[in-house]
Amino acid sequence: MKYDIIIIGAGVIGTSIAYNLIPYDVSVLLLDKNNDVAMGSTRANSAIVHAGFDPKPGTLMAKLNVEGCALYEELCKNLSVPYKRCGSVVLAFSDEEKELLGELLDRGNKNGVPDLKILNQEELRKLEPCVSEEALAALYAPSAGIVSPWELCLAQAEVFVRNGGTFIGESEVTGISKNEQGSSSKFTVTTNNGAFDAGTVIMACGLRSDKVHGFVAEPDFKIVPTRGEYFLLDKCEASKANTVIFQCPNKDGKGILVSPTVHGNLICGPTAEVLTGDPEDTATTAKMLAVVKEKAMKSVKNISWRDNIRNFSGVRANTNIDDFIIREIPDNKGIFEAAGIKSPGLASSPAIGRYMVGLLKEGGVSLPEKSGGYDMTRKTVHFRYMSNEERAQLVSKDPAYGRIVCRCEGVTEGEIRDAINSPIPPKSLDAVKRRAGTGMGRCQGGFCGPRIVQMLLAKQGEDSSPLSILQDGTGSNLFTSRDEEVNV
Ligand SMILES: Cc1cc2nc3c(=O)[nH]c(=O)nc-3n(C[C@H](O)[C@H](O)[C@H](O)COP(=O)(O)OP(=O)(O)OC[C@H]3O[C@@H](n4cnc5c(N)ncnc54)[C@H](O)[C@@H]3O)c2cc1C
Repeated sequence: MKYDIIIIGAGVIGTSIAYNLIPYDVSVLLLDKNNDVAMGSTRANSAIVHAGFDPKPGTLMAKLNVEGCALYEELCKNLSVPYKRCGSVVLAFSDEEKELLGELLDRGNKNGVPDLKILNQEELRKLEPCVSEEALAALYAPSAGIVSPWELCLAQAEVFVRNGGTFIGESEVTGISKNEQGSSSKFTVTTNNGAFDAGTVIMACGLRSDKVHGFVAEPDFKIVPTRGEYFLLDKCEASKANTVIFQCPNKDGKGILVSPTVHGNLICGPTAEVLTGDPEDTATTAKMLAVVKEKAMKSVKNISWRDNIRNFSGVRANTNIDDFIIREIPDNKGIFEAAGIKSPGLASSPAIGRYMVGLLKEGGVSLPEKSGGYDMTRKTVHFRYMSNEERAQLVSKDPAYGRIVCRCEGVTEGEIRDAINSPIPPKSLDAVKRRAGTGMGRCQGGFCGPRIVQMLLAKQGEDSSPLSILQDGTGSNLFTSRDEEVNV
């Protein structure tokens, strides 16, 4: 198959680029090695829309962070993605750290972060009643926010597909070759699921950025995979933080935070551990989780750890370069990359998508505007966030929205059905979770899981087999054999 543009990598960066290409009359293929979008760093991170005072002034990271943060509110409204501009505070526990707050304030002002302010102890406690009394002052950034990263990624991908774009999963790119002059396409992208031709290639491969860059040139940067582990606490703990509570950044990054989530939980983490083995190893360890506990309690003392509902980890695509790497690859006309998009990559993603489109234009890629219409918005039902009047109206039109399947989160049969029929159909229980929000509560899918398996099987039709149902990625089959085949 032949496309004008192939984007490799369907994380929040690849999908933001795909989303920003919707207004143009070009055929675009979004490829990923996994069986869904948002399966890399995008699905396991702190979910903070950073205000932008942390990156060094003058860097691409500083510019795109502040621009991205400003785009969030409207983007999430248009895409029906949970987002809240809750603000953030950086705590100072010593005079030395108070000085550091001044430096962050200065840096933030240079970066153009709006309304930054240093809070004294009294002002801080008013904003954050549960914060430790040892916190002496804080830098307050009202423009910071929280978001659902995987829902943003999915929404961008779904709208891209609905507007004529193509997403193909389970296709790991294994090579990129330049075709001879005069061929109908400039490049052939080879995958373990066939080959695709394109005039332009964009790499957005997260932790594999250096490997995929290596298909066309020796990489001039190195990915330093850095794992972060988390606690996710039940909703009863959410009131412990109103804003994102950071500690002063250090050489390991932004440190351990305590933050509300858009889904109403409390999140604590992440650690920063450089991985020397598999760069995509998202295990959790007792050792690192103990570090999270200890450091989080420096900020908020009375966290009830017995209300933890899940631990998880994500791996940052850190690099040996102190900035994002977003460019047309030198001496490789027509091949672009957004490589090593570390934190604040999520916050910057709406601006990175736009920036990449600008680079394509500068690079001479033909991007004629669509003459017909297109729709960059998405509407989804979030039953749990609706008023009782709205719910009653919806249920009277469609009774499936009146049947709760996930009791912990209040997700209805109608929402799960919508997820199963969405433009990028879910291939696993976790893919339904990312779309509909099922299994995210205290019982972690114990109650709703079997019912969702039934619904996935019903969608597959007569030839369906429970043996095909996955928990998550390829190979994570939930069932290994049928009852009658098991010797009990
Ligand atoms: C612990 C942690 C905390 C973080 N906290 C924040 C935060 O609070 N705020 C913030 O702004 N940022 C945060 N980040 C950073 C943010 O998560 C990333 O910047 C962002 O998700 C990067 O998106 P991406 O699309 O570049 O990468 P990914 O989401 O990793 O996507 C890359 C995709 O490329 C695919 N791929 C790779 N190789 C191939 C191949 N050969 N063929 C086909 N597909 C391929 C992968 O399967 C993957 O889906 C955090 C990251 C981590 C890990």
